[in-house]
Amino acid sequence: MDFSYTDEQETFRHELRAWLEENAPEGWLEDPELPDDDAERVEFLRDWQRTLADDGWAGVHWPEEYGGRGASLVEQTIYREEMARINAPPQINLIGINLIAPTLIEVGTEAQKQRFLPKILSAEEIWCQGYSEPEAGSDVASLTTNAEANGDGEWLVNGQKIWTSYAHVADWCFLVTRTDDSGKKHEGLTVFLVEMDQDGISTEPIHQPHDDRTFNQVYFDDAVASADLVVGEIDRGWDVVMTLSAFEHGSTSIYSIEQRYLALLEYCRTETRNGTPLVERDRIRQQLADFDARIQAAKATHYRNVSKQAESGTPGPEGSMDLLISDELRHDLLNFAVNVQGPAAALWENGHNAFDETSGYIRSYGAWIAAGTGDIQRNIIGERVLGLPKDNKSKTSHRSE
Ligand SMILES: Cc1cc2nc3c(=O)[nH]c(=O)nc-3n(C[C@H](O)[C@H](O)[C@H](O)COP(=O)(O)OP(=O)(O)OC[C@H]3O[C@@H](n4cnc5c(N)ncnc54)[C@H](O)[C@@H]3O)c2cc1C
Repeated sequence: MDFSYTDEQETFRHELRAWLEENAPEGWLEDPELPDDDAERVEFLRDWQRTLADDGWAGVHWPEEYGGRGASLVEQTIYREEMARINAPPQINLIGINLIAPTLIEVGTEAQKQRFLPKILSAEEIWCQGYSEPEAGSDVASLTTNAEANGDGEWLVNGQKIWTSYAHVADWCFLVTRTDDSGKKHEGLTVFLVEMDQDGISTEPIHQPHDDRTFNQVYFDDAVASADLVVGEIDRGWDVVMTLSAFEHGSTSIYSIEQRYLALLEYCRTETRNGTPLVERDRIRQQLADFDARIQAAKATHYRNVSKQAESGTPGPEGSMDLLISDELRHDLLNFAVNVQGPAAALWENGHNAFDETSGYIRSYGAWIAAGTGDIQRNIIGERVLGLPKDNKSKTSHRSE
């Protein structure tokens, strides 16, 4: 297998690297810190996404006709590597850019694409994804949030969503509703694009243990959804849910995990206990070597998945491998990082240590759950990659069935 990049791909990397050096937020390359205040952070991230979008670096994987760069899968990999290298600020409209826009490009109407895509790219309109409910998470097809036509070209939505990331700042929601409950649970679902700023919708933030308040409960009380903002067909929303899920599972965070590993390695080289650098302790050396091997194996797995997707043209179930491997590796690495720091890890954030990952460690539990839990990803890999029989005991219809 040839892992080297072509001249064209190297040019893409250098162009992006030069752009980041020129345009990263002021001071970011020396000290990457997001503002503490919630409102300031949102503004900072909106500005950052707008800066990316202005020069065509926000949706590199989108087709050029919709404002993207039409980047190949290898260029997308380079993009992730370079963004991880400078620990770039996240894009606030990540759900819009990575999940909703690609779904609209595939199954939306031309009017929907023209109306929504430019404002997704510039973060002028932020999006959230309304799938999970208190009684419907892995088994999303059992959702009950109901939409009923009122005869005036509008639908009235009633029900509740939960764990909805960014709903508190979102302008629009990609909302899955039940429009018919007479058939099987995968039937009778409809996806609407719903405006969040209206009387029938209220959000309540959920306070997470690492101090984040980015996800929410969302209540719908006769909220209005317009008939021309149905994605796909009425009662055929499951196909749309599956289209979005393929994009949701098809990404990896292995490059940012590698950067965290390199920072940890540096910490272990410079930090001493009783005059000896941590890295000289056998147990610590062995674990660092083990993480390095796992990271290199994860990257090789990702390259193989990218090659397969380049041949088939669509994201396949292999994306679940990238997701699962990244989530479990991140969790184990950060657990090790917290242990290796000893009592200093309790300093939480902005402590005197060069390596501070306690809140990241707590957040890693949620990352394993978001976009379908690790168990669900294992089911997908077992059934759809390895061709194993379905688990008869499981009565759920998980996100990628
Ligand atoms: C950080 C974060 C962000 C999120 N953002 C969003 C968002 O923006 N929009 C949104 O709609 N949702 C979001 N979610 C919700 C997320 O999609 C659900 O939490 C997830 O799908 C699991 O659903 P659940 O919490 O109801 O757990 P359940 O589905 O009740 O699962 C409980 C346990 O049972 C296991 N289990 C369930 N079914 C099976 C099975 N068939 N086989 C084996 N094991 C099984 C699960 O792995 C888990 O351990 C987010 C969650 C988190 C943590």
